[in-house]
Amino acid sequence: MDQRDEDLDGRRQERGACAVELRGVRRQYGGGAGAVHALRGIDLVLPHGSFTAVTGPSGSGKSTFLRCAAGLDRPTGGTVRVGGTDLTRLRADRLTALRRERLGFVFQAFNLLPSLTVEQNVALPMRLAGRCADRRRTAEALARAGLGAHAGRRPGRLSGGQQQRVAVARALVTGPDVVFADEPTGALDTGTAAGVLGLLRHAADGLGTTVVMVTRDPVAASWADRVLFLADGTLADSLERPTPERVAARTAALAGHPRRTAAA
Ligand code: ADP
Ligand code: MG
Repeated sequence: MDQRDEDLDGRRQERGACAVELRGVRRQYGGGAGAVHALRGIDLVLPHGSFTAVTGPSGSGKSTFLRCAAGLDRPTGGTVRVGGTDLTRLRADRLTALRRERLGFVFQAFNLLPSLTVEQNVALPMRLAGRCADRRRTAEALARAGLGAHAGRRPGRLSGGQQQRVAVARALVTGPDVVFADEPTGALDTGTAAGVLGLLRHAADGLGTTVVMVTRDPVAASWADRVLFLADGTLADSLERPTPERVAARTAALAGHPRRTAAA
């Protein structure tokens, strides 16, 4: 075991057994006859430094799952623990602080601030967390994302793939325990998607970050260590060491055997 592995191992032990733990998580929208049961009881444990993809058809609850796991939404029932802290019991201000200090986020739509430079966008989470913007950390995050030459430009001048790499650099700059990504390559073509997925893969392997990524793309999902299949608000299946072919085959098999048929 080299020094880096030892460091990562130490970091993992220090932070407890698992990075993310969901127990009986339910999320219902509305009530009565019109209630939508977006999550119907999710149980899940994600180890530190793991890269998990969550896939499933449109409306299966992927975004709801991600928002609940990341403390952006409160489940109707069950518990969500991140690094041992139960998010469902935290007050709103503590939850906001925890998100800023320990979590990172990437969304399909990049969500960069157009009036700030690339460098200022990447430095933003440090400023929001009340720290001064550490230029060395910012430069490192930019260099890792292959954006060193673009630090002073506005995001609007960059390609979609480059903009999403800025968003990933911004998500990683504080050294978060967990990064949550919702369809981060949904707006990108296959070639530029690979650059973004490579950064997430490196975050898990090289930095010990736990990565949770929602995607409908079997190729994107195959970058993960494990793929979870959501169907109608439940975890219907999982696949270790995925390949695009195996993810696609499992997706097709689940589509052919719906858990519930729509009410006639
Ligand atoms: P996915 O990301 O897999 O497409 P979502 O988590 O967005 O699925 O949605 C799961 C279910 O919950 C869908 O039936 C959707 O219409 C419903 N839903 C999601 N958000 C809301 C909301 N804010 N209000 C009411 N229903 C919602
Ligand atoms: Mg979604």
